[in-house]
Amino acid sequence: MKRLLLPGVVAVLAVASIVLAQVPGPATLRTPSGDRPIAIVQVAGHPFVSAIDVVLALGGTITPESTGFRVTINEQVGAFGPDSRFAVAGEDLIEMPGTPVLIEGRPYVPWQFFQGYLTKAAGLQTSFDAVANILSVRPQQQVAVPMQFNLTQIEDISKIVITLGAPAEYTLVKDGNAYVISFRAPIQAPFTEQTYDDPNVTRVTFAGRDVRIELASAEVAGDSYRLENPFRIVLDLRKGAPGSAGPVPALPQPGMRRPAEPLGIRTIVIDPGHGGKEVGAVGPSGLMEKDVTLSVARKLAALLESRIGARVVLTRDDDSVVSHDQRTALANQYKADLFLSVHMNAAVVKDAKGSETYFLSLEASDELARKAAETENAAESRGSDDDLKLILWDLAHQEYLQESSRFAQAVQEELNRASGVQNRGVKQAPFKVLLGATMPAALVEVGFISNPEEETKLQSDGFQNMMVEALVRAVERYKNEYETRIGLIQPAQQPPPLAGGVAPQQKARSGT
Ligand SMILES: [Zn+2]
Repeated sequence: MKRLLLPGVVAVLAVASIVLAQVPGPATLRTPSGDRPIAIVQVAGHPFVSAIDVVLALGGTITPESTGFRVTINEQVGAFGPDSRFAVAGEDLIEMPGTPVLIEGRPYVPWQFFQGYLTKAAGLQTSFDAVANILSVRPQQQVAVPMQFNLTQIEDISKIVITLGAPAEYTLVKDGNAYVISFRAPIQAPFTEQTYDDPNVTRVTFAGRDVRIELASAEVAGDSYRLENPFRIVLDLRKGAPGSAGPVPALPQPGMRRPAEPLGIRTIVIDPGHGGKEVGAVGPSGLMEKDVTLSVARKLAALLESRIGARVVLTRDDDSVVSHDQRTALANQYKADLFLSVHMNAAVVKDAKGSETYFLSLEASDELARKAAETENAAESRGSDDDLKLILWDLAHQEYLQESSRFAQAVQEELNRASGVQNRGVKQAPFKVLLGATMPAALVEVGFISNPEEETKLQSDGFQNMMVEALVRAVERYKNEYETRIGLIQPAQQPPPLAGGVAPQQKARSGT
């Protein structure tokens, strides 16, 4: 990951140096091969160590860059800068208790930088003894990582999700008719062997640090990626997947996948909220959110396909339960360029009406936004704040946040225009269904199912079509803006005029 440290660093450096007119003192770096002296300084009660001392003692290199410093040990790159509490190790972010400082031109970082970076770079465990001022670096203790294994089928894809108790290094290779995931650390196998009645997977065995996934035939190939919080390895298997002709499909190495060169909005995943026993909100006369969302999503998919020629995938096309994780995992798997989760709102106030659009943020923009997120998240209430402690993930996806916010804005404006209700806007809230989506993503509450008047409207094809039209216009508008911004289309080029501006009422399947 190229993390762009912001400009303006020079000014920050100057200020930092003046404020911290502190004299570094001595400390010790303790490694299995002996002790070395390093310099240390206390900044706001936190020990900051000399990055140069530590890196050189560990046989690495450290070089200044325009915005900070680049560290390399074992060919693993890390970076930090004096403008950010977040450093980088490979593709991971490291949160530190303070921003690095420069003292007499030498960078000092909170020792936690090395804790995060060395784990990744060298499999080393780092701790700090504040009494004796000793930074200890030693090979990681081999604690077996607890692990869960799940195999589910989504359409023709067998989705394997391995959930780990802690992030772990691993490799994934194809070995004949099997995929083998080998972990660097010991694992707590959930079982030794299990057979499956699945079109793509026949048997899974855990042996030592390896998981062996045996495939039903040579045609089965996979695509793999990683999700955070909790740490999960996802392997999607299907017959005749692209790349299966080659001897070994190039499965991604561990690491958060990023989209390659932006190519515009080509694949869109529409997520009809809720499903199955997760009925969502229920209107006064019994209309269920899950049914309206499916109906709207199907119409939206059909119209998006015909209108803008995008490939559209629904996260569910029937009345089934799909977890939040699976929804974004599906979008990632299809390498979607846009993700829209469709919901209906509910409010205690009976006459609440209009649409609301959200994009992901850890901070709810207001109390009501927080409530909305809680309600939508309730389907899978693991209930702990841990799920929301995704600050690292959040920051790593700033680029998506900004795009998501733009997309949400387009959606909200078009829906306001269509419904004539202006009082609601774009909000931010920690919606679980938007977590883990590695593309611009938004969640729209199309209308208030709790309002008897809107409940009646939401059931009608006419109203649904009107909202679907607005959503298509929003996608078109966002797509056009985005593709102009990335230089794919010329600024002057306008989107194709809409035929009469009115929805062709075509082949829209009605919902349940
Ligand atoms: Zn909902």
